[in-house]
Amino acid sequence: MIVTVDGPAASGKGTLARRLARRLGFAHLDTGRLYRAVGLAVLRAGSAPDDGAEAARAARHLHPASLEDPAIAGDEAADAASRVAAIPAVRAALLEFQRDFAARPPGAVLDGRDTGTVVCPDAEVKFFLTASPEERARRRDKELQGRGEASIYARVLAEIKERDRRDTTRPVAPLRAAEDAVVIDTTGMDADAVFAAAWDVIQARM
Ligand code: C5P
Repeated sequence: MIVTVDGPAASGKGTLARRLARRLGFAHLDTGRLYRAVGLAVLRAGSAPDDGAEAARAARHLHPASLEDPAIAGDEAADAASRVAAIPAVRAALLEFQRDFAARPPGAVLDGRDTGTVVCPDAEVKFFLTASPEERARRRDKELQGRGEASIYARVLAEIKERDRRDTTRPVAPLRAAEDAVVIDTTGMDADAVFAAAWDVIQARM
């Protein structure tokens, strides 16, 4: 069984995907890490993340160890990720890895932007999480401060809006809900409430 969880930054998709995977005994893949690792690799090679040839090369030679790099969680990696993610050759290079992961028995939970639309269009259960940009910026701000990083709410909000714009308007695999996805607006919901809503859907399908 494959479960996909898509949505914009800080919509709660990572937390939900992790918890669903744990409850189901499935493997979990945060597909954003792949794009973040490619973005970081390009920056470290001294190139611009919009450099298509360099980004495609980095995606084809992605080393699993780079997914564990702590810098991957930072905003620099997030920004670079959303730039390399608009390059079709980068997306193509990462597709097979994601599909192979999803096919592992007994099942997998994938989260990202296009896991229900492009990576696993035949997934048995698809979720699409949303929340207002302001609520998502508040969550992200809190998360950064919790990690001891300097964070300014207004800047976080602007970055979230810019990343939303880039992710929803790109021609290849734009961020959108699959037609058969269950949409959950997580504004005002905590992680337990989101999990409970999603778990009800899964139980009904099983
Ligand atoms: O989810 P996360 O914030 O880690 O994703 C970073 C960026 O990677 C996103 O803004 C998006 O541009 C890109 N991404 C994507 N497709 C995915 C996952 C992430 O384009 N499946």
